[in-house]
Amino acid sequence: MTELNGKKALVTGGSRGIGAAIATHLAVAGADVAITYHHSSAAAEETVVQIQRAGRRGTAIQVDAAQSESVIAAVNETVSTLGGLDILVNNAGIFEMKPVGETTLEDFDRMVAVNVRAVFAAVNEAVKQMGSGGRIINIGSVNGDVMPFAGGSLYAMSKGAVAAMSQGWARDLGPKGITVNTIQPGPIDTDMNPADGDFAESLNAMTALGHYGKPKDIAELATFLASPRAAYITGAALNIDGGLTA
Ligand code: NDP
Repeated sequence: MTELNGKKALVTGGSRGIGAAIATHLAVAGADVAITYHHSSAAAEETVVQIQRAGRRGTAIQVDAAQSESVIAAVNETVSTLGGLDILVNNAGIFEMKPVGETTLEDFDRMVAVNVRAVFAAVNEAVKQMGSGGRIINIGSVNGDVMPFAGGSLYAMSKGAVAAMSQGWARDLGPKGITVNTIQPGPIDTDMNPADGDFAESLNAMTALGHYGKPKDIAELATFLASPRAAYITGAALNIDGGLTA
């Protein structure tokens, strides 16, 4: 498939899990891809190798998403290295569980900095570079809609904020021909939420399909949303969750 030929993409948190799968899928579809990572430099290099194996240009940029300035710098480095920016995938995120009363203000600030402020910073900078046909894809969570566990209030708040901002951005950017959508995954087998982890049994039981999804499942939808085939989809929050929210 080459429907993204000539497109330039930035995928945040592309070293592991969902972000690595999205970066590789975009490259297979024809895009040059920059990724960001925090600590996993070897894993980030492996994603770059996969991008290059698909015959595309790839580069890895180290950032701390808790520092919005480094996210803004990564957007600009992508533009200078790849020669533009057509597709932004905000995927980097953290997941922490703590009940209210035990949560600290520092916990709150960190969740907002990584899962919300960094997403705002990337979009706010990227739209200065994007033209008609641009695509912004934000990785939220079904927890933006439902939080079936105790201790997840901050994470749910952060993902609800991503979906809400995306709706506003869809309105801002529609006249420029740029679409903005949120993908809301259910349980996906990654380091963040392993299919053999503590939550697995109860999460499996909540889905209609009875099992976790794979990073590839999210990457397929992200690649579709990035393509011209999805030109009329904007402002949507698309749940891809094995039926968890059915
Ligand atoms: P992983 O923990 O497997 O990977 C997280 C990625 O984000 C890594 O590339 C990591 O970089 C990067 N990252 C984390 N913190 C920072 C930071 N401070 N600065 C820069 N990069 C950072 O997560 P998943 O692949 O599971 O999750 C990806 C997205 O999908 C997240 O937004 C998550 O909330 C969301 N999601 C996941 C679900 C799941 O079940 N897995 C369900 C619903 C939503 P490094 O490797 O360097 O640490």
